[in-house]
Amino acid sequence: MKRRSESDYAEWDELRARVIGLGENSAQKSYYPELVEQMAEQERFRALLDEVPDLILVVSVTDGSVADANDAAARVLGVPKGDLAGRDIHEVLPEALLRSIDPLLAGEGMRLVAESTLGTPAIAYEISARHVDFGGGHYVVVIGRDITERKRTAKLLEDHRRQLEFEVERRTAALSETVIHLREAADVRNRFLAKMSHELRTPLNSIIGFSGVMLQGHAGDMTEEAIRQLSMINDSGKHLLTLINEVLNYSRIEQGSIEVDCESFNGGDVVRRAVHMLEHEAKRRGLVLTERICDECPVIYSDPGKVTQVLTNLIENGLKYSSAGGVTVHADPDDRGGIVVKVIDTGQGIAASDIDIIWHEFRQLPRPEGALSEGIGLGLAISARLAEAIGAELTVESQVGVGSTFTFRVPNLEEGCLLPGRRPAGPEAQ
Ligand code: ADP
Repeated sequence: MKRRSESDYAEWDELRARVIGLGENSAQKSYYPELVEQMAEQERFRALLDEVPDLILVVSVTDGSVADANDAAARVLGVPKGDLAGRDIHEVLPEALLRSIDPLLAGEGMRLVAESTLGTPAIAYEISARHVDFGGGHYVVVIGRDITERKRTAKLLEDHRRQLEFEVERRTAALSETVIHLREAADVRNRFLAKMSHELRTPLNSIIGFSGVMLQGHAGDMTEEAIRQLSMINDSGKHLLTLINEVLNYSRIEQGSIEVDCESFNGGDVVRRAVHMLEHEAKRRGLVLTERICDECPVIYSDPGKVTQVLTNLIENGLKYSSAGGVTVHADPDDRGGIVVKVIDTGQGIAASDIDIIWHEFRQLPRPEGALSEGIGLGLAISARLAEAIGAELTVESQVGVGSTFTFRVPNLEEGCLLPGRRPAGPEAQ
């Protein structure tokens, strides 16, 4: 065993005086090395505690006095560290914070998390406190963390969020206003179109009617030249009436929802009738219009009026935009009980970059040199809306200089003109 020197014992006495709980008479000098080690450990721990930027206070539950405090606590509370130990906690912490800590000191609850401002200038701290027992004593350890930066970031975020919210509200209001204006403008346009076409139809019908009557010779004999010119008036009148009817049709579709009127009919018959309606027109243009319609076409439930309107428009276009050859119409059953109609022409074709444009209202592609523009660019826009109303698909494939194929896929609808599997909207649907 190592022998102790006199100086060792002197050091021991000093250490003993610093170690809590070691009485005068407990001079068991053989503890010396352990005590030295314990003291070193305590100092390490002390240094560590003082390095921590958080404020730490150990408060005795027995009398509410500060048992220990680190450098940060002394600095923030503005009390020299030596003066902190033994001070009543009520003398060093602000009253508002004490109101939260007091119940903990009184043994109520085990944990507390609160916010408080401490020091001068006041800084925001997050305070957490909890019961800790050690060395036979009961303590409350109070830890305070500077949350100035966290609060600043949170405030910045909140300001940013408010600013965004404000911006979104402002933009939404502006957008709603624009939508209202657009709706009003579209409304005015549609009313104007409807009124104008309606007003034009009456005199036009008279022109067509009277010129027809005169051509039949009811107004007396006419020279050949007079007949030729009157025929031109009659033809132009009819053409104009077709265009006006198209505008009227379009403005009606735009103004309200399209009414669908379903019934059962043979798909092949409707296609055949549409082809026959345009045979004369094909002949007039010197083109060939042929059909290849399924022998046993399915009976489908849909709106025959809408199917006919779309089909005649597609066939008319095929004829309008073909200068030679003609149009072939194929009709076949599809695998879901509906019918697929293909209108194939040998016309000018449509470039891939123009395929989207042709469905837009009042949009027309440039015609080959010398060719007359016959329509007003509404036929396909109307057809697309009608097809949509009966759940049909309308697509096109085309090659410039070769021709175009428009495919019209008409489904077999269910009761209520609904697509198979679709439920009607409204309360009963829920
Ligand atoms: P319109 O025929 O009255 O101009 P549509 O809406 O029916 O109006 O067609 C829009 C445009 O699409 C036409 O002006 C034409 O340029 C193009 N188009 C339509 N059908 C064909 C076709 N079968 N072949 C070539 N171009 C076509």
